[in-house]
Amino acid sequence: MNKILLQEIEKGTKNAMIKKKIINYYIKNVSSTITELSKEIDLSIPTVTKLITEMCEENYIDDYGKLETTGGRYPNLYGLNPKSGYFIGVDIKQFSINIGIINFKGEMVDIEMGIPYLLENTHKALDNLCEIISRFIEKQTVDKKKILNIDINISGRVNPESGYSYSIFYFNEIPLSDILFEKLRYKVTIDNDTRAMTYGEYIAGCVTNEKDIIFVNLSWGLAIGIIIDGKIYTGKSGFSGEFGHVKTYDNEILCHCGKKGCLETEASGSAMHRRLYELVKEGASSLLSKRILNGEKITLDDIIEAVNKEDVLCIDLVEEIGQKLGSQIAGLINIFNPEMVIIGGTVSATGDYIMQPIKTAIKKYSLNLVNKDSNIVLSKLKDKAGVIGACMLARSKVFEDN
Ligand SMILES: [Zn+2]
Repeated sequence: MNKILLQEIEKGTKNAMIKKKIINYYIKNVSSTITELSKEIDLSIPTVTKLITEMCEENYIDDYGKLETTGGRYPNLYGLNPKSGYFIGVDIKQFSINIGIINFKGEMVDIEMGIPYLLENTHKALDNLCEIISRFIEKQTVDKKKILNIDINISGRVNPESGYSYSIFYFNEIPLSDILFEKLRYKVTIDNDTRAMTYGEYIAGCVTNEKDIIFVNLSWGLAIGIIIDGKIYTGKSGFSGEFGHVKTYDNEILCHCGKKGCLETEASGSAMHRRLYELVKEGASSLLSKRILNGEKITLDDIIEAVNKEDVLCIDLVEEIGQKLGSQIAGLINIFNPEMVIIGGTVSATGDYIMQPIKTAIKKYSLNLVNKDSNIVLSKLKDKAGVIGACMLARSKVFEDN
């Protein structure tokens, strides 16, 4: 691997900056002809040809062969060289970790889902996380020196720029990304989990040409990811998207953020879980009644499984949450006028059961002229959105424009 370009990028030389732009272009567009590329980056064809030749020699760019066209000349297609580097993405969940590695072209080389893990805000949990990552790297057959970045998804308040995580693993004055670099001996970046899922759908999921997108992460909690004009929107310190903590209800339900009446208290996986327990204890019947009354622990996945087995009580609860959430997404649509709204996260596995009430409420509560622009779709990457997004972010962050 030719690391000279990375060093040049750090120094900010003009040539390296243009090459970085070309890599960025191919991260988003996969492949193109030299003519298309020169138009996109606004440089002459001879200049771009020279740069592409250099980058092929440096192994960053690959000649993908001739473009199939009808008649005339066949121009060559260029794109990223898959063997030029590797990037690791780590998605931390409450009870498990998903981890993956992609090549330079963005293709998944290896992925491990559901590695047992308990997320606690302790030094021990942080050490366990590092052990899991090291073990994963250990078993990879690729050249370890070519692993260029590890991006880790963490829930809560994360500043990707400074590398600080404020909600989890905030033990001292040093940024978490620096602590992880010390422990793992690889470059590490961190990001908010919902933002990573959003980016995953954007680069490798259900997004095709859309540039203004809202991704709704309906899991145990509730948050959104925002893409404006093709760029992920982080806000000043990386705290954007805390949709779940908007004061919406005059209820007495205490949110884990410490406040009352947050949207999340009635429109989230945890709200659905709480309502199920309440209703079963009041005598409502469900496939899960027996287990709940016996004091067994029920997970969100158990409820989703019951929905997909047509359990009426659980379906009612999903509908109730969908309706409440949809009426608030209607507000987002009025504000942002997005081209696409993606419904993702754990609860999105209920498919039509959650989509229909969301769509109906959006139609009912948003401005008609505005909502006509918004395509409401289900997440394509499903439970892999986080890990794929983390891998893609790990790559983008090495080459992103500042
Ligand atoms: Zn809250």
